Amino acid sequence: MQHDNAEIEGDNVRVSQRLLLVCLVFALSTWSLAQARPFPGPDVQQIYQRLLPQIEKITAFDHHAHPGFADDSDVDAMAAPPNASEALRTRSDNPELAAAAKALFGYPYDDLSTEHAKWLLDKKTELKKQLAGPAYFNSILDKINIESSVANRAMMPDYLDPKRFPWVFFGDAFMWPFNNERETARNPDEGVYIPLQEKMLHRWMQQENVGKLPATFSGFLKFITQTLEDNSRRGGIAIKFEVAYFRPTTFSDPTRAEAESIYRRYVAEGIPTEKEYRTFQDFVFRFLVQEGGRLHLPIHIHTAVGIGDYFNLSQSNIMNLESVLRDPRYASTTFVMIHGGYPLEREAIWLAAMKNVYLDTSFGELAQYPSAFKNTLKMFLETFPDKITFGTDCFPYNQVLGAEESYWLGAQSSRMALAGALAEMISEGEVTESRALELAHAYLHDTAVKLYDGRVR
Ligand SMILES: [Zn+2]
Repeated sequence: MQHDNAEIEGDNVRVSQRLLLVCLVFALSTWSLAQARPFPGPDVQQIYQRLLPQIEKITAFDHHAHPGFADDSDVDAMAAPPNASEALRTRSDNPELAAAAKALFGYPYDDLSTEHAKWLLDKKTELKKQLAGPAYFNSILDKINIESSVANRAMMPDYLDPKRFPWVFFGDAFMWPFNNERETARNPDEGVYIPLQEKMLHRWMQQENVGKLPATFSGFLKFITQTLEDNSRRGGIAIKFEVAYFRPTTFSDPTRAEAESIYRRYVAEGIPTEKEYRTFQDFVFRFLVQEGGRLHLPIHIHTAVGIGDYFNLSQSNIMNLESVLRDPRYASTTFVMIHGGYPLEREAIWLAAMKNVYLDTSFGELAQYPSAFKNTLKMFLETFPDKITFGTDCFPYNQVLGAEESYWLGAQSSRMALAGALAEMISEGEVTESRALELAHAYLHDTAVKLYDGRVR
């Protein structure tokens, strides 16, 4: 019995030692989750390698893109001014674009020299014949695992499938109904942009059978509402503003009477002073924001640096929009800050504290290489992870480098940066791996899709 007892006691000691060890390991592991550390561990590469294929399998929703062919002037409501400087990675000689052509079309060369580029042109021509109509661009989305992609375009062409390319139309043109001589002459960039706004306004007028601008201000506002409602019926899911290209994004809060008297004075003739024009535009912009809320059309706003050497960074600072975004009168309007305020992302993410404000990361993944974009994403994910959405800002550069290659580069860069950001967050004890994958799904697809009441997937 003694002996047995001693044995049992010994066993008990061993059991409690083992229990202690288990408890200690458990405590350490929960401690490492509860208390983040400032550096990723040596496991970060392994976690990245494990996450990337899982992230590549997530079918994405592209929240901001300009799909179309290079000879299609409707891919945007504006156009690139001649001779604009381009940042390194967005130049058409970026060797990564050859990698894109390789992945998408089996391009056999490493560069895009003129004779090699001919191979790519021929290949695309052949494919477009095989995949007639919407099948061609649908096949591109399939290749990069995107379920559907916003088409932020002036108008929709018949070669894009509206089920997979929901239309985001432009709302800026309503702000330029007067004589724009001075606006156009401001600098060479405006010389390109403003006439295109006039053209867009005339297209809306044609669409709504409005021969000339209404004589009364209430008639003008009715014309705006009618255009928005029709565009929504035609499949439009949101209203996009690229107003930062044309004027400062600080919006005052004029009364309707002020805007009305300016409209009456200048709708037929005369040139409003700069101050008068701005006051009128400020009212119209706020009217559009309010209508966007009423009609369930989220408001997309370009918030980042822009193309063209005259793009004014300080006047287009995303923080200029704060007075509009935090205005309780617009609580029922959903705002999407396109391009996430780049390069002012750190300030921008705090605007997403507003329940109705979201940040789209498109262009950030092209302006920066994945090593830097990873840090942007990580900062977003660590602040308001449920308020950020993925976009490529794809655009047809030219006949050789199309929206196709640009889609690929945007999607690849974003997925790599996302895997990198999440791998660091896991390794640093901020999130678990399963939580990280939830965040990846939200960013690449779910958060954006939820904004459109079942109109997109
Ligand atoms: Zn864009």
